[in-house]
Amino acid sequence: MDYDAVVVGAGPAGLMAARKIAKRGFTVAVLEREKDLGLRACAEAVSSSAFQTAEMSPSPALISNNIEGAFVFPPNEGNGVKIAGGSYKGYILNKQLFLYALAKEAVAAGSDILMKCEVKSVKASNGTATSLICERKGDLREITFKFLVGADGVGSVIARGCGFPIEDSELIPTIQYVMINCTIPEKNMIRIYMGNEVAPLGYVWVFAKNDFMANVGIGVRGKPAKVYLDRFIESHPDFFKNAKVIKEGGGGVPVGGQIRSIVKGNVVLCGDSAGQVIPITGGGIRTSLAAGSMAGEAVAEALETGDPSRLGAYPQRYSEYWGSRIEKSLKVLKAIENLTDEDLNLLGSIVSGDDIVDLANGLDVARVVAKLMRHPVLAMRIAKKLL
Ligand SMILES: Cc1cc2nc3c(=O)[nH]c(=O)nc-3n(C[C@H](O)[C@H](O)[C@H](O)COP(=O)(O)OP(=O)(O)OC[C@H]3O[C@@H](n4cnc5c(N)ncnc54)[C@H](O)[C@@H]3O)c2cc1C
Repeated sequence: MDYDAVVVGAGPAGLMAARKIAKRGFTVAVLEREKDLGLRACAEAVSSSAFQTAEMSPSPALISNNIEGAFVFPPNEGNGVKIAGGSYKGYILNKQLFLYALAKEAVAAGSDILMKCEVKSVKASNGTATSLICERKGDLREITFKFLVGADGVGSVIARGCGFPIEDSELIPTIQYVMINCTIPEKNMIRIYMGNEVAPLGYVWVFAKNDFMANVGIGVRGKPAKVYLDRFIESHPDFFKNAKVIKEGGGGVPVGGQIRSIVKGNVVLCGDSAGQVIPITGGGIRTSLAAGSMAGEAVAEALETGDPSRLGAYPQRYSEYWGSRIEKSLKVLKAIENLTDEDLNLLGSIVSGDDIVDLANGLDVARVVAKLMRHPVLAMRIAKKLL
């Protein structure tokens, strides 16, 4: 046996899981196909409690910008809603440094990290996963384990190879530019733009990283994301007239909710591979950290007792808070996704900043529904779908 546990993927979920397993004294390796951490595009926004979930202090070195609130713009941009302070405080991370810090914690706890090690397939015997076939520096190698954590994100080889119900997973395509020489006012406020002309079935984000640099991206369904993003940038010369794109990336974000089962025999999935993203916001860093942490604890428990059924504690614990938030946010997404621009403008004129935060994050949805029920059009179009 090479390791007690193997974790595939060195993103927030995998690094957190490895740290938890290693901390309890077990041998664990993280296998990562890329040559560096944090290469995947990300808008890098997290709520301030993400550091608590990561069990790290919010060191300024890991943060590009402090978020004091948000502007959410309906199609009629003049009616933007301001969400300030309170629960919307957060950070624009320097995600690569944040991942290095998570990796440091995992290694300090005793984890091994193998970079440029791509998992190609999973071998199983009598329904139990036993080893992985990996390619590293051109050589194929077999790595054996007692327990396996699939934290390999969207398109997970582990989810597919172990027969998890990935048909549940629904992806929204995104494109993001990192732009320099932007002139974005109030850099501590993130900006979200909605509407069928701006981003059909999605939204545009403008998150300043500092005085001159921003993550500018879009998620849309059924339309070409790049066309819409370029159009948005052109129509906002006040921010981008003299700005240039220095990095372009993107990828799918799972917005269809958590997949039906995230544990199978001696294998667990966590993070994007399990669909653990807040569907409306597309935020998956904190949800993945929480999942990695709980999955890692459950694997350690199963190793300590020699009882794989202990893995069942992970989905149970996760669903108490995160699973329920993901589910409620998905319901809200389904309720608002077919609204016309007119409906969105109406919604924008009625909801407050706190209402938007609660709806998007699947928090106090019942309170917002009660408010919408008092408005005849919104009661019909949205509130009744949320009951
Ligand atoms: C454009 C964009 C913007 C986003 N913005 C935000 C945001 O502002 N805030 C937020 O909270 N979330 C955001 N997200 C979502 C967030 O990035 C993810 O939800 C989060 O990173 C998921 O973490 P993870 O550890 O599950 O997976 P990932 O971060 O995707 O990590 C998976 C790792 O597995 C590795 N891997 C994959 N396959 C293999 C293999 N076969 N063998 C070995 N290694 C493998 C990958 O290289 C990767 O390093 C954004 C996503 C996108 C695409």
